[in-house]
Amino acid sequence: MSILPIRTINPLKRKGPPATSFSTDPVLRQKTRKVSRIDESIQKLIDDMIETMYAARGVGLAAPQVGVSLRVCVIGLPEQEPFALINPEIVKKSGLRRLWEGCLSIPGFQALVPRSEKVTVKALDRNGKPIRIKAENDLLAQALEHELDHLDGVLYIDYLEDMEELVPVEPAEEEPEEVEVGL
Ligand code: ZN
Repeated sequence: MSILPIRTINPLKRKGPPATSFSTDPVLRQKTRKVSRIDESIQKLIDDMIETMYAARGVGLAAPQVGVSLRVCVIGLPEQEPFALINPEIVKKSGLRRLWEGCLSIPGFQALVPRSEKVTVKALDRNGKPIRIKAENDLLAQALEHELDHLDGVLYIDYLEDMEELVPVEPAEEEPEEVEVGL
């Protein structure tokens, strides 16, 4: 397994209109392709993404964040086995809450963003088995929406009306246990 470089953007550096054209790595803005065959290269991608996510102290990572435009993401919640989602789709969501959120691809910032209370996702697991995940009012629900947004080229800053809503985060020597903002 290897740690992959994470693609990042600077949300404060605008290239000009339209509103979404922040200084960015284009792969972060592309809609990803579906995985048609779960082969060894996908298994390696998943293993590398899990290692990269943990190295970056994140709780989720989507393939575009490591430069791969495929519909694959991994989630690793505190004290839980990490898992991969292949070709995930949100089949149901409801409710509204506002949560602090950060992104490994937008280092140094966080902001309050609107997220659903309940989220249901269908996907394939890394073995190609169809799975359905239901989450409600927890970090998993937030991570699912955040990672699936990445697969459509959407970043959490797209929910902000103004980049002044971004709050700088000091890089901590020791990550506070309870704050998980890297997705
Ligand atoms: Zn992210």
